[in-house]
Amino acid sequence: MNPKGEDFEEYNNFNLLIIFMRVSLFITAAVLYSSFCFSQDIDKIINAAEVERIERILSADDMQGRRAFSPGIDKAADFIAAEFAKSKLAFFNNAGSYFQDIIMTKAKPVDINGTLDAETLSSSNVVAISTKADLHITSLKDYEIMVVKKEDDFNKTVSPLFEKEKNVLVLVDTTHASRLARLKRFAGNAKFPSAVSQIFILTANTNPASIHLHIKNELTEQKLKNVVGVIPGRSKKDEYVVFGGHYDHLGIGKPNEQGDSIYNGANDDAAGTTAVMMLAKYFSEAKNNERTLIFVAFTAEEIGGYGSRYFSKQLAPEKVMAMFNIEMVGTESKWGTNSAYITGYEKSDMGKILQSNLTGSKFKFEPDPYPKQNLFYRSDNASLAALGVPAHTISTAKMEEAPNNEPNYHKLTDEIGTLDMKNMAEIIKAIAISSKTIISGKDTPTRVELQKK
Ligand SMILES: [Zn+2]
Repeated sequence: MNPKGEDFEEYNNFNLLIIFMRVSLFITAAVLYSSFCFSQDIDKIINAAEVERIERILSADDMQGRRAFSPGIDKAADFIAAEFAKSKLAFFNNAGSYFQDIIMTKAKPVDINGTLDAETLSSSNVVAISTKADLHITSLKDYEIMVVKKEDDFNKTVSPLFEKEKNVLVLVDTTHASRLARLKRFAGNAKFPSAVSQIFILTANTNPASIHLHIKNELTEQKLKNVVGVIPGRSKKDEYVVFGGHYDHLGIGKPNEQGDSIYNGANDDAAGTTAVMMLAKYFSEAKNNERTLIFVAFTAEEIGGYGSRYFSKQLAPEKVMAMFNIEMVGTESKWGTNSAYITGYEKSDMGKILQSNLTGSKFKFEPDPYPKQNLFYRSDNASLAALGVPAHTISTAKMEEAPNNEPNYHKLTDEIGTLDMKNMAEIIKAIAISSKTIISGKDTPTRVELQKK
């Protein structure tokens, strides 16, 4: 006898139910298994022991505080490059190595003489920010003239000048003499070679009729280097995602009471550099990035962001879909463990993308709680953000007034013993996980608005 239609249908429905349950069980198991594997894999590569191994080397005394232009920083660069090689990263832009050399020029004035109207000019009232061997100014028309009056805020008036690709002559009221002395020290640092100069004259004259100024500089070349490695994208090779952190720090200073004189910079920013190196290793093993990933340890952040500024000019900014800058992630954030903040949160929707990729995890990214500190503009992300790249810094550093501050920030005591390796590993994992849809090409953060000059 054939089963009745009804029975048959019931039988069939029952069977479908069983099949459905089996399939769902299978899917659930597969999902559980893969996420289990995922967390197993990520823990195998990004863990506290590995964080500590890298941190210990980068922040060791023999790196001498990794000051730009010191032998200590070269040693750090060699170590980072060797780790990039272990992770089998490719070179950037067909460079022959992981080093991105930056030639800087140091200018030492050996002769300054001339007149501004009847006033005598010499090294006592003139400071030149210039990388030219010879400067001869005979006409006020060749320079944009600017006046800093007694009542003006010197820094506010003068800082925008350094962004301009223009010859500028600044007449600074004599009440700002001490500022000029400080500027003189800055003028003595190595800089990017430039076709333009900024000349500062300490004078009461605000409307001169004539100038005759001759400056002779002794020039020397000094080298800096970023360390850069690449994992080419599988399908979107021309779309880049950058992970960066600065590996330079402050060098050696006066000894403290304990006799320590080395600025180890374990948190600032051996921590961020460690994160970059571990992310490179992780993604190189995961091999699932559709976009090209660029890992960079920046030099000379502490003395003016030279490393990131140079790097940002070596690629087309419109090809950079996102930049993760990692700064000081070695301590707990103000919210405790398993949390970090994103600077410039409102400047693109990258923060929202990262947050949504962390949904369901124990980790949380928050908007920067210290907007008054201008942190968005105080690290290497700013060099790329200035070109429109959604470039943000991820940090846990407490940048409030004491006692809620980061007690070892820019101090000799910024040492490995003050860091929480386990929490750092969690942060690095969170960065890896939160970047998932960006490196796959699924999400593209909005651009940062260009600043009007
Ligand atoms: Zn830093």
